[in-house]
Amino acid sequence: MPAERRRNSPPAEIRIPERLLPADGRFGSGPSKVRQDAVVSLERAAPRYLGTSHRQAGVRSVVALLRGGLRELFGLPDGYEVVLGNGGTTSFWDIASFCLVERHSQHLSFGEFSSKFAAVTTAAPHLDRPEVIESPVGTHPVAVPRGDVDVYALTHNETSTGVAMEIRRPDGAGGLVVVDATSAAGGLRVDPRQFDAYYFAPQKCFASDGGLWVALLSPAALERVRRIAAGGRWVPASLDLGTAIENSDKDQTYNTPALATLFLFVEQLEWVMTNGGLEWAASRCDHSAEILYGWAEATEYTTPFVAKPSERSHVVGTIDLDDSVDAAQVAATLRANGILDTEPYRKLGRNQLRVGLFPAIDPEDVGALTACIDHIVTALAA
Ligand SMILES: *Cc1c(COP(=O)(O)O)cnc(C)c1O
Repeated sequence: MPAERRRNSPPAEIRIPERLLPADGRFGSGPSKVRQDAVVSLERAAPRYLGTSHRQAGVRSVVALLRGGLRELFGLPDGYEVVLGNGGTTSFWDIASFCLVERHSQHLSFGEFSSKFAAVTTAAPHLDRPEVIESPVGTHPVAVPRGDVDVYALTHNETSTGVAMEIRRPDGAGGLVVVDATSAAGGLRVDPRQFDAYYFAPQKCFASDGGLWVALLSPAALERVRRIAAGGRWVPASLDLGTAIENSDKDQTYNTPALATLFLFVEQLEWVMTNGGLEWAASRCDHSAEILYGWAEATEYTTPFVAKPSERSHVVGTIDLDDSVDAAQVAATLRANGILDTEPYRKLGRNQLRVGLFPAIDPEDVGALTACIDHIVTALAA
């Protein structure tokens, strides 16, 4: 059948046999699977927690557990601070452009999310034009140390393309290393000595809801915030990192946070810590990735989108399908069978499936997903 007609035909009525289905059908790359056990805990705590003041001990103790738990999970050295506030990662880009970038940032841009932070500093009238180093989608660029760069903006995992990069300070560079770790934090290994700011939101590896940002800040980053404030730069109050640091220090946020989000975040953190910490979570993601990419390499109609195995993300997998198979139809058929959010990042525009491999997702379910895809492709060809 010509590709045009095939793509326009209505999704076939394909029922995946029960025995092939994953136990949980959520494979989204954010928001992503929230463990039902955590939701049950929230329900149990709700009468004494939801709808109570975030300035009182009940909620503040949850923020304290969150901050202490993250410090332990990442093995933060003395002097590093765990800071949080409202607005998710997108707000943190604005915050960083006001409170971390002194004049000139260098951005590694290799997908939708990394390009967005570069767009923020490009538009900021108080900053010099940033240096933006790009590479083709499906790869990542490498930072170039320069004397006049005061922030190196890296992305641990580019969620739009499924490319991960190791976080390392550029050799001999003096600037701050500021890392978007939104989809990486809690699922990929990282050495805190290699970053000054590692920021993220809890709707990916931390299996909670969106709307919050967290930043792990080194002493050099904290010093930068103080120095920029002392220089008298105007900063909108809700984007003032100094204000967020002061509030976090008291286990509070500047304005009202989403209490359910905080609770589910702590539930996930404690689940990971109980099971063995970041190394356990990262190993679980390694296992899921091995299942997904191993299948994609062994299967005739699939190819991992990211060519270099070392750059393939272990938290978000992207799999190209052969032109003979319509990925949109496969994703729609999965959806009709209760398997959700395997569609590719919309702006990438590829014949592709994208699969969340976050710690909450059971590696066995990833295996089941591949069997379901095989079942659909066989049925579509019949
Ligand atoms: C999801 C994501 C974001 C956006 O996070 P929000 O909390 O929705 O602002 C930014 N960067 C990366 C790498 C992401 O995966």
